[in-house]
Amino acid sequence: MTEETEQTEERLFKDLGLSPQIQQAIDEIGFEKPSPIQAEAIPELLAGHDVIGQAQTGTGKTAAFGLPMLQYLDPSNDEVQAIVLTPTRELCIQVTQALRSYAEHLDIEIVAVFGGAPIRSQQAQLRSGAHVVVATVGRMKDLISRRSLVLTAARFVVLDEADEMLDLGFIEDVERILRMCPSGRQTALFSATMPPPIKRLADTFMYDPVTISITPKTLTVDAIEQAYVEVPGKAKVDKLVDVVKAEDPEQAILFCRTKIGATRLERDLKNRGLDVKALHGDLSQGVRDGVMLAFKNHRCRLLVATDIAARGLDVDHVTHVINYDIPNSSETYVHRIGRTGRAGRTGRAITFVTPDQMRDLEQIKSDVKASIAEWEKPEDRIEHARPPRRKRRGEKPAPLDDQPAVLVEEVEDVDEVVEVPLTEEPEAAIPETPDGAVKLFINRGSRSDITEEDLRWALKEGAVLEDGQVADVRVLERFSFVEVDGDVAERTVEFLDGSRLKGSAIRVEIARS
Ligand code: ADP
Ligand code: MG
Repeated sequence: MTEETEQTEERLFKDLGLSPQIQQAIDEIGFEKPSPIQAEAIPELLAGHDVIGQAQTGTGKTAAFGLPMLQYLDPSNDEVQAIVLTPTRELCIQVTQALRSYAEHLDIEIVAVFGGAPIRSQQAQLRSGAHVVVATVGRMKDLISRRSLVLTAARFVVLDEADEMLDLGFIEDVERILRMCPSGRQTALFSATMPPPIKRLADTFMYDPVTISITPKTLTVDAIEQAYVEVPGKAKVDKLVDVVKAEDPEQAILFCRTKIGATRLERDLKNRGLDVKALHGDLSQGVRDGVMLAFKNHRCRLLVATDIAARGLDVDHVTHVINYDIPNSSETYVHRIGRTGRAGRTGRAITFVTPDQMRDLEQIKSDVKASIAEWEKPEDRIEHARPPRRKRRGEKPAPLDDQPAVLVEEVEDVDEVVEVPLTEEPEAAIPETPDGAVKLFINRGSRSDITEEDLRWALKEGAVLEDGQVADVRVLERFSFVEVDGDVAERTVEFLDGSRLKGSAIRVEIARS
């Protein structure tokens, strides 16, 4: 059965049959109403059905499987009752953090296991009890073979971003893991696209699944202004520089088709003086984490990415998606441009096409049923009703997806443990000084060789503050205080807390008198 996305009536979370504890967590997080995939999938999963959920990135799939999964669990049973398989470590961490926030009022232990971190500490976490294990495929296999993880009680199984697991070559391992789970299990499979091998997997391993597909028609594509730039291959880089300068994006993702292409573009843009980082599969996990963190924290404006590397990552506030290489399918097009225009904000998507790719563009246009006009410089566009000026960085995001970014500690060494922190409680009222500045406490001072200059540098480079936003910096022996403008205080904490300064990790918090 394929549900059409046209919804006759709007459903609310409280109509979906979720428990009061879960409802409370949703209210606190600030989700007002379920997204279409949530409204469709949650009741089916609560009713015990297998579900195939197809919806583009950013449509809320984590809660679609996560909420019914949490409700299914029995806190008094210490076995691993549910597993979530994810393709990458970033997604594993992201899903874990989301699930923990949904489980805020439940007595449920959620453990993340992923590669690139010591297996020992993950084994220890499993030993001390896990109701849910969120895992990358490889690490789960490893833990099973070391007998640190048994799946005989895992009756709720989620395959998240299944198409990406396919792309990364994990499907056979996924099948092996599925065979170790009880046959009477409930299986949920979520994917942005449904290539034939994923359909086959579903046919083999799922029991009479309900298919819910949220078709591109209901995507937020409406909120995305789309344009194309026709340019010969050789002139692409220069044209890109022109477009970036003219558009002045707050943050943009530049998509390339291949890893080599991404590496080359990063280099070409750097050579032309642009601040850019690249994210692709050839980089070590530690480097990828660092790039993601820099981008999320707005320490880098332009991210060059391949489809696989950028998939599934929940990056907010991207104002522009630029398809430097035209995507190889309309599905990928929708997927890519869905990274902007989230939660009712407007975004822009600009697609580069060489003359012989114009036919591919026509195909995308007709599939997506969107108008994709030729790109014009923003100043030439003024008569065409420009959207209101976008939010500047550091401003509060719209409340709907006001979830803290994943706080992955910056790791220089891949073997360091990455902790998945719990979502923090929202801050209580912040004490302001009479002139509207906020005092921040930093746990290092002159004993750690920190000077006023170092702190000013960190505020500028790390938290992207202007000189005028820093009122005062005072370094004492064992700690320091800085005063910054009230409206950038939270961001300063977010950006600097946990970072390193002169070799020491620093804690930054709002000073409570
Ligand atoms: P997907 O897995 O489909 O890519 P996610 O589950 O990562 O999507 O969710 C994308 C973003 O949307 C997250 O920031 C999440 O907190 C937010 N979100 C999810 N559900 C809702 C909702 N019902 N209302 C508002 N925001 C939501
Ligand atoms: Mg997801």
